[in-house]
Amino acid sequence: HTRNSGSLIQVYQPNLDINSVERLNLINDLRQAIPCNQFELHFQPKLCLYSLKVTHVEALVRWTHPTLGMIPPDNFIPIAEKTGQIEGLTRWVFVAALMQCTEWNKLALDINISVNISAENLKESDFYEFVCQMMTIQNIKPQQITLEVTESSVVDDPKSAIKLLGKFKDYGFRISIDDYGTGYSSLAQLKQLPVHELKIDKSFIQRLERDLDDQIIVRSTIDLAHNMGLKVVAEGIEDEFSLLWLAQYNCEFAQGYFISRPKSASELTPWLLNPPK
Ligand code: C2E
Ligand code: CA
Ligand code: CA
Ligand code: CA
Repeated sequence: HTRNSGSLIQVYQPNLDINSVERLNLINDLRQAIPCNQFELHFQPKLCLYSLKVTHVEALVRWTHPTLGMIPPDNFIPIAEKTGQIEGLTRWVFVAALMQCTEWNKLALDINISVNISAENLKESDFYEFVCQMMTIQNIKPQQITLEVTESSVVDDPKSAIKLLGKFKDYGFRISIDDYGTGYSSLAQLKQLPVHELKIDKSFIQRLERDLDDQIIVRSTIDLAHNMGLKVVAEGIEDEFSLLWLAQYNCEFAQGYFISRPKSASELTPWLLNPPK
């Protein structure tokens, strides 16, 4: 039990780099984010390439840190996932999305909202019960909610993921496989997954105009999805070429900065009520 025996000494080494100190602070600050009301949802439209209407949006969480300002989700979601805080965060996001859905329904806007679900959430024993309970309390039809689950989180533990996603699908939720093409799922797994749509990762979409390999990958993914009865969302559309190209190859939905950045509800609502032609 002495401090200088074995590995314990490492804990007291002063050459701990600044990044780990910052990380520790961030872990603690993150615990305050929900009680201090520092999270906000932004929403990014998914344009339907058949109707050219926006009927679907993705909820993306934003954290305004009291001193550091806006911290991008890629910098705190992985921390939340490693420290057990993703459970509370996802639940906060889910309830906030349902509340926004209610607000839009009051304005006669029938919008489907996507919520990102982490691999860790799929392992919680009462996640399904929580979600169903909130749906009843908020009185939202499950057809208005999409659950986005990354391809890699399904690969983690395919058996139980398939089972849980099946329960969500039976309840009436729309299920989407996020970041498709980056998670090494097999076609055998894909065939078994109870999902409605594939969301092609933005790394294949961003350079479509210049990269012929990406064009081949995206075309075959769209065909594969359609042959399995799935719809396709492409994310990361940053130019007109990609948008027209995807429409030509019968991709159903397009999401990206070229169409709209993620916006706060107050910014997006007028846009939804009065869509640009
Ligand atoms: P994601 O689920 O793949 O979300 C798409 C990300 O791509 C978003 O970044 C979005 O702003 C960005 N994006 C959209 N269009 C474009 C484009 O045209 N070009 C480029 N370069 N990027 C585009 P964001 O909001 O920074 O979120 C990053 C990631 O953080 C998300 O990736 C998701 O994995 C995670 N995340 C965000 N919100 C939540 C949440 O509420 N819960 C969980 N579990 N994860 C979340
Ligand atoms: Ca997503
Ligand atoms: Ca994605
Ligand atoms: Ca991603």
